[in-house]
Amino acid sequence: MQTGDGLLVRLRPVGGVISPDQLRAVAGSAERFGNGQIEITARGNVQVRGLRADAVAAFAQGIETVVAIETGLVIEVSPLAGLDLHEIADPRPLAEAIRKAVADGALEAALGPKVTVVVDGGGRVGRYGLSADIRLTAGGSTDAPMWALEVGGNAIGLLRTQDAAGAVWAMLSLIAELGPRGRGRNLNVAAMRQALAPLVAAASIPPAPVRPEPDRIELTNGRVGAIVGLAFGAASAAALTGLADAAQHAGIAEFHLAPQHRLIGICATEADAARFQQAAGALGFIISAADPRRAISACIGSEGCASGTIAARPVAETLAQAEAEFFDGSFALHVSGCAKGCAHPSPALLTLVGNEAGVDLVVDGSAKSAPTLHLASDAVPTGVRRLAALWRGERKLGESVAACFKRLGAASIAAAVRQGWQ
Ligand code: SF4
Repeated sequence: MQTGDGLLVRLRPVGGVISPDQLRAVAGSAERFGNGQIEITARGNVQVRGLRADAVAAFAQGIETVVAIETGLVIEVSPLAGLDLHEIADPRPLAEAIRKAVADGALEAALGPKVTVVVDGGGRVGRYGLSADIRLTAGGSTDAPMWALEVGGNAIGLLRTQDAAGAVWAMLSLIAELGPRGRGRNLNVAAMRQALAPLVAAASIPPAPVRPEPDRIELTNGRVGAIVGLAFGAASAAALTGLADAAQHAGIAEFHLAPQHRLIGICATEADAARFQQAAGALGFIISAADPRRAISACIGSEGCASGTIAARPVAETLAQAEAEFFDGSFALHVSGCAKGCAHPSPALLTLVGNEAGVDLVVDGSAKSAPTLHLASDAVPTGVRRLAALWRGERKLGESVAACFKRLGAASIAAAVRQGWQ
């Protein structure tokens, strides 16, 4: 894929698992053939940026010898499938049954490349909030799980495990009939419910509770998952090589790629997990769910993209350090090098968009939305300081930034940035 900083290659290692050696190899290739920046996407895929067109073949050849890459229909399972103590059902057998059913006929070839199926076992690190054409989410009890089926975001009903793969196949067939641009959201909800009526259970199950994710997570057989995030979704080849070294010192044999730009190292003991996270933190990785950088998206901007007008990630880092308390996890800030908005295409509560004249602030919109306010580039830290002061001054007891700003509205927010909170 062509981007402003060269070609971008997205990789889905088989099973979403990558070893420290494989990570080191990807980092080495990114350094050699690209701009040395590696990303873990919001969906948990690996992206290498800045590749030169004449280097793509050599890059692909090098990667294929060390990492098995998934091809065909995108079927995503929970990152800790089969390891998570809180999982209701292991989603992998069901995912495999769907993959087999689709690959056996001509269906896979008829589907567009963006069609995605999510099979979520309901554990601590799920795939909540990620869009999917078809989603199955485990619910009920571990000994008799049921699967809640959603197509294009519409709830269709509950399925028994033995019926779920067939139902997904039927829905994918309907999507394929729409042609290569067909998506789950284009299907008729009433027709889907009617088609699946013989399989869908009338009973309902309470959804699995969504618990706050810890920084380390208990796994089967006494193992521990150590969660590490990439600040703004990206890291340099040198930092990832350092992470691979730290993992091997802690006895980690595999990382599981996870949504929200994270890797989970599978450790034998709590002490290994703590040692690994300490080393990862020293390398600049996120090791705490409370880290303010988790609330901020930023692209490479002018540091590596021809379209970039501001160094988005350093700006984001400065803001995170200066106003850590403000980034309370209730809202997203997007710092974008230009109006394309690659790092966060959907709307965010606050978006800062670089352009030739400075930086636009968009409240409750995307980088492409009409700006709420224009700022000079050097006024951005002051602007964010004023936003934080507005929240501190106006918040009700225990009120989050998102709730407070929603109550105040865009006009009050813009006025506070312009004049300071009085
Ligand atoms: S949003 Fe960022 S990465 Fe995307 S084109 Fe603009 S500057 Fe480049």
